Amino acid sequence: MTLALVAFMAWRHNVRNKTYFHWGMGFLLSGVGFAMVALRGQIPAILSIEIGNTIALCGQSAWVAGYLALDRRKLEWWAFLPPLVWLGGVFLPWVNDDYTNRVILYNLASATGATALAMAVRATGQPNEGSRRTLGVIFVLQSFLCFGTAMAMAIIGPTDAEAANFAGGAAMATGFMLTFACAHTCLLIMERSEKHLRMLSLTDSLTGVLNRRGLFAQFDALQERAFHNDRQVAVLLFDLDHFKRVNDRFGHQAGDTVLTVFARMARQFVPAGVFGRMGGEEFAAFTTVADQTEAEALAESIRAEFCRVPVSTGDAIIPVTVSIGVAMASSIEANRDKLVSAADRALYAAKAAGRNCTIIFGEAEAAAAPPPEPDRTGGELVPTLDDQIHALRRVGSLSRG
Ligand code: GH3
Ligand code: MG
Ligand code: MG
Repeated sequence: MTLALVAFMAWRHNVRNKTYFHWGMGFLLSGVGFAMVALRGQIPAILSIEIGNTIALCGQSAWVAGYLALDRRKLEWWAFLPPLVWLGGVFLPWVNDDYTNRVILYNLASATGATALAMAVRATGQPNEGSRRTLGVIFVLQSFLCFGTAMAMAIIGPTDAEAANFAGGAAMATGFMLTFACAHTCLLIMERSEKHLRMLSLTDSLTGVLNRRGLFAQFDALQERAFHNDRQVAVLLFDLDHFKRVNDRFGHQAGDTVLTVFARMARQFVPAGVFGRMGGEEFAAFTTVADQTEAEALAESIRAEFCRVPVSTGDAIIPVTVSIGVAMASSIEANRDKLVSAADRALYAAKAAGRNCTIIFGEAEAAAAPPPEPDRTGGELVPTLDDQIHALRRVGSLSRG
């Protein structure tokens, strides 16, 4: 009952997620069911035997539903097996009238419940979390325990007193297993939320692609892949052209749509590499290529596709283009910061060349030191405030003259 309360409070925290609700129901039903079973002799037999055990087994179904909801899987028919197995047998006279047979039936129903729990925690698609495997093992053991108890009782044919010991022993062991299962479920949830937070910290919230940190974190793995496959590392930097004008003309929201459309489109072109948003209207892709031609072809296909399909925001068609700077290096020489800086210089050259084009820096150009910052005064004298005042006075005196 305490655990039911805890689970319901957790559910109140986020009512859209039904996981905790199902688990709360699982504890509540088990608690109520076992209380009714324990009241044997104090309450009518039908309440204690048929209904009490059914309610307790419905608790197992609710736990199964909880694990399925945790993985956003739909409710399966086998979740309802525990109470169904029980109800399917308990009204047979030779079961109903015989305590041993009822304990056997209950353990068989409970074994189906544990099997269903093991099936519900089985990883589907997502990478296997460690605690998930442990949970699976616990539920399989639980299933063996219940099934073994039922089989042993069927073979031995115990007296009612012995059967009560069997039932008690199995219940006690189940209790221990449940404690372990609870602990590992908490671990599973912690791992889950940690993974979710890590994913959020590496994702760009607007476009859903990797952010700069997420992108940079992938570089080493990509370089390693390039080394093993004897390929080169290419860094592509994308900067949308005259994006400020897009915002000014169509509004910031339309600008956001353009960014999202570009990210979704471009990402599909680099399945073997990584794509992300560097910030603002700048994106980058890290990928492996066989040679310069392949890198150029990749960049050009993204540029051409973006140019070909104008972005539609519902009430406006926005023509936008992208300039691309590419830098490459061999897998051994590749250095992330140097490559990004070289690609940035190539991008600058693409802007200078009139935009909507790709400039590619091969290994030699990428390795070259960046040119010194241009002298912003262009060698001319910059007039100081005093110079300007003096000049104005001269203009004034000349005009009077
Ligand atoms: P250039 O062709 O030289 O790249 O010109 P530009 O206008 O694209 O470049 P500039 O750096 O002057 O402007 C970038 C603009 O991108 C300015 C900023 O308002 C806009 N921007 C940056 N982040 C976002 C965003 O998240 N959403 C929208 N809508 N606009 C953004
Ligand atoms: Mg920019
Ligand atoms: Mg721009």
